[in-house]
Amino acid sequence: MPLLARAFDLLVLGGGSGGLACARRAAELGARTALVERGPLGGTGVNVGCVPKKVMYNTAMHADFIHNHMDYGFTVSNVDFSWRKIKERRDAYIKRLNGIYQRNLEKDKIEIISGSASFSDCSKPTVEVNGQQYTASHIVIATGGQPDIPTETDIPGAEFGITSDGFFNLEDLPSRAVVVGAGYIAVELAGIFSHLSCKTSLVIRYDEVLRKFDTMISGNCTTELESNGVELLRRSKVGSVSRNSAGRLVVTIARENAADHTLSDVDCLVWAIGRKPNCHDLNLSKLGISLDSSGHICTDEYQNTNRSGIYALGDVCGKALLTPVAIAAGRKLASRLFGGEANARLDYTNIPTVVFSHPPIATIGLTEAEAEAKYGQNTKVYHSTFTPLYYAVTEHKRKCVMKLVCANANEQVVGLHMQGMGCDEILQGFAVAIQMGATKANFDATLAIHPTSAEELVTLR
Ligand SMILES: Cc1cc2nc3c(=O)[nH]c(=O)nc-3n(C[C@H](O)[C@H](O)[C@H](O)COP(=O)(O)OP(=O)(O)OC[C@H]3O[C@@H](n4cnc5c(N)ncnc54)[C@H](O)[C@@H]3O)c2cc1C
Repeated sequence: MPLLARAFDLLVLGGGSGGLACARRAAELGARTALVERGPLGGTGVNVGCVPKKVMYNTAMHADFIHNHMDYGFTVSNVDFSWRKIKERRDAYIKRLNGIYQRNLEKDKIEIISGSASFSDCSKPTVEVNGQQYTASHIVIATGGQPDIPTETDIPGAEFGITSDGFFNLEDLPSRAVVVGAGYIAVELAGIFSHLSCKTSLVIRYDEVLRKFDTMISGNCTTELESNGVELLRRSKVGSVSRNSAGRLVVTIARENAADHTLSDVDCLVWAIGRKPNCHDLNLSKLGISLDSSGHICTDEYQNTNRSGIYALGDVCGKALLTPVAIAAGRKLASRLFGGEANARLDYTNIPTVVFSHPPIATIGLTEAEAEAKYGQNTKVYHSTFTPLYYAVTEHKRKCVMKLVCANANEQVVGLHMQGMGCDEILQGFAVAIQMGATKANFDATLAIHPTSAEELVTLR
C-alpha cells in the first residue's frame, strides 16, 4: 500500500547554492520546509565548482609567484609540488563544508530528504523520493546542471575524456593535457594545468576564448593564455580519441584551413564545452512545465514556472550560471512566498563576475558592443593598458587592461571590464558604485589610492 504523502509548506528539490539559500530563508520566516538532495550538500559550487576550483587556482598562483621570487631577491631551491597533498587538503575542507551545511539545515529545522526527486502526480504536484511521496504548497526546483559531453556518435572515443567533475577527482597532475572549450571553465582549468607545469593544449572552435565577453577581454585573455604557455589550437575540433598501447590518449584534431593534427601521449582530455540542466529525470513533461530550446526551465522574473505553485531558480533556468545569482534568487523567492514581500525578485542586470584566469578577469554590466547597440552614439568608452607596479622589477611582465563603458550625457557607468593582477578583488566595490548608478564624474571625484592598479579606474582620461 503506498505510504501517505507527507506535506510541507515548502519543498525544495536540490541542495546546492540556490536550494539551500531558499530553504533556509523560508525556514527563518517560519515555513515548514523540506529539502531533497541526491548527492553531497552544497551542490556544484561547493563540491565540483567554485570552491575546489578556487583552491586549485590559488595553487597555480603559488607556482606563479615562485617564478618571480628570484627577481624579488629570494633564492628558491628544491621546489617540489604534490598534487595529491593539495587534493587531500582540498577534499578535507569540502567535507567540512558538507558537514556545516548539514548542521545549518538541522539548526533551521529543515527536513533533509536524501535521494533523487521526481514528480509523480500531475493533478496535484507530488514529489517522490525513494518510494515516499511528498507534497507542498510551494515546490522549488533548484536541481542545477551538469557538464555536457559529446556522444560517441559525435566523436568516437569521447568517453575517454573527463569533465570538470573529473578534473576534481584527478589523483595526480597530468604531464600532458588537452582542454576542449572556450568558456570560462575551459580557460580556468587550462590555466591551472599549465601553471603547474603540465603541457596544455586548448582546443577552440574560433580564434579567441570568452567570445561573449567584451572584445578587449576575449582578445587579451587569448594573448595571455598563449604567453603563459598554453598551446591554442584555433578553429579546431576534436575528431576522435583513442587509447594507445601505453594507456595514454591519442587525440585527433580537425582544423579549419589547415591539415589535421594528432596529439599523442595525452594523459588527460577535459571536455569543457558547456553545461546542461538537471531536469531530464524530474518527469516535468507530466506537469506540462515549459522548457526552452536547450532544456532549461522557463520562468518569469519572479521564478514562477507556468505551473502554479512550482518555481525554478539557479542553473536549471540557464540564466547567469553563478552561485551568488542562485543564492539571491532563492532568498528573494522565499521572501516573496513567506515574508510578505510581494515584489521581491532578483534583478538580473549588473551581475559582477570574475574569471579566475591568469591574470584574473573581472567584469560587470554591458560590453562596449552591447552599450553601442543600446545607446548608439551616446556611448563613451575609456580604457587603459599598463603594467602593474608588481612587475616593475620582474623579468616576466603582465599587463593590466581596463575599460569603462559609459552612457548618455551624464556618462553613467554601464559597464566595467578588466583583466590584471588583483582585478578579481577590485571589482566588488566598484560594482556597488555601478549598482547605485555612478557616473564617470563620481569615479573622477573619488581620490585615488596610490600605488595600486585600482587607482587607474578613478583617473581614466
Ligand atoms: C568548474 C566550475 C567552476 C565554477 N566556478 C564558479 C565561480 O567561481 N563562481 C560562481 O559564482 N559560480 C561558479 N560556478 C557555477 C556555480 O557552481 C553554479 O552556478 C551554482 O552551483 C548553481 O547553483 P544551483 O543551486 O542552481 O545548482 P547546484 O549547485 O548545481 O545544485 C543543484 C543540486 O541539485 C541536486 N539534484 C539534481 N537533481 C536532483 C534530483 N532529481 N533530486 C535531488 N537532488 C537533485 C544536485 O545533486 C545538486 O546538489 C562554477 C561551476 C563549475 C562547474
